[in-house]
Amino acid sequence: MVEINRLFDLSGRVAALTGGASGIGRATAVTLASAGASVVLGDIDEPGMAETARFIEDTGGKAVTIRTDVTKSAEVEALVQKAVAEFGRLDIMGNIAGIPQESLVIDTTEEELDRVLAINLKGVYFGCQSAMRVMIPQRSGNIINISSGIIDSGGAATWSVYGITKAGVAMLTKVLAREAAPHRIRVNAIAPGVIISNFTARHWTDDQHRESEEKKAAFLEGVRGMTPLGVEGKPEDIANAILYLVSDAAEFMTGQILHPNGGTAMPW
Ligand code: NAD
Repeated sequence: MVEINRLFDLSGRVAALTGGASGIGRATAVTLASAGASVVLGDIDEPGMAETARFIEDTGGKAVTIRTDVTKSAEVEALVQKAVAEFGRLDIMGNIAGIPQESLVIDTTEEELDRVLAINLKGVYFGCQSAMRVMIPQRSGNIINISSGIIDSGGAATWSVYGITKAGVAMLTKVLAREAAPHRIRVNAIAPGVIISNFTARHWTDDQHRESEEKKAAFLEGVRGMTPLGVEGKPEDIANAILYLVSDAAEFMTGQILHPNGGTAMPW
C-alpha cells in the first residue's frame, strides 16, 4: 500500500512565505503548517501576519513573522535567514506577495510601472535568489512562485503591467527550474484563476472599506458565469495545489505551471 499521509507529511520541514498576511499566502501558511511544516511569514502587513501566526500557533503549529517588503532584496534575504536562524534550514520558499494593477498602456505612469514590477516581479526574483543561496548547499528544496491565470488570457486589455510581471514569473520559474535541478531543487509555479481575497475585494469595496453586497453578488455571478465549474476560487484551492507541489507526491515535477482555475482556461 502507498502511505498517502506520509507523501504529504511536511514534519520537520521549514517554509518561508511572502504575502502570508492575507488571502492565498495566509491559506498556504495554514495548510503547510497543518501538514507539519514550521512557517516563517514575511509581509508588509504586520497585524495581518500576526493574525496568521496566532491562528497557526493556536491550532498546534509553529509560525514566526518578520516584516518584509519584497521590493527590498535585503529584507527578502532577512526573511530567509530568519527561517535558518529559527529552524535551521529552508525547505520551501513561497513567493506569493503580489498586487493587482489595471490601466491602459497609454495611461500608465512610470511610478506605477516601477511599483508593480518591483513587487510582483523583482520581489519574486529576490525570493528565488535568497532561497537558492540556502538550498544549494543543502542540496534540496522547493520553490513556488505565484504567477496568474492572466498568462492564459492571450492578453487582457488594461492588464499590461500585471500581465508582464506574471508572464515574467512564469519564465523565471522555468529558467530557474533548469538551473536548480542539478542541485536537487524543484521550482514550480501556480497560475490561479479568480480567487476571492482582498485582491478581488476591490471590485465591491469603496475607498472607506465599505462593501457593497450588490456589487459583490454581480462580481461573483460574472466569475461563475465564465468558469466551467461554475464556482469562484478560494485561497485554500491554491494552498492545496501548493501543498501538492512541495510534497513528496510531486517529486518528479519541476518547471511546471499548475492552473487551478475552475476550467476557465485549459492550456496544454
Ligand atoms: P491578497 O491581497 O489577499 O494578499 C497579498 C499579500 O501581499 C498581502 O498580505 C499584502 O500585504 C502582501 N504584499 C503586498 N505588497 C507587498 C510587499 N511590497 N512586500 C511584502 N508583501 C506585500 O491577494 P491574494 O489573492 O492572496 O494574492 C496573492 C498572489 O496571488 C498575488 O501574487 C496575486 O497576484 C496572485 N493571484 C491572485 C489572484 C486572485 O484572483 N486573488 C489570481 C491570480 C494570481
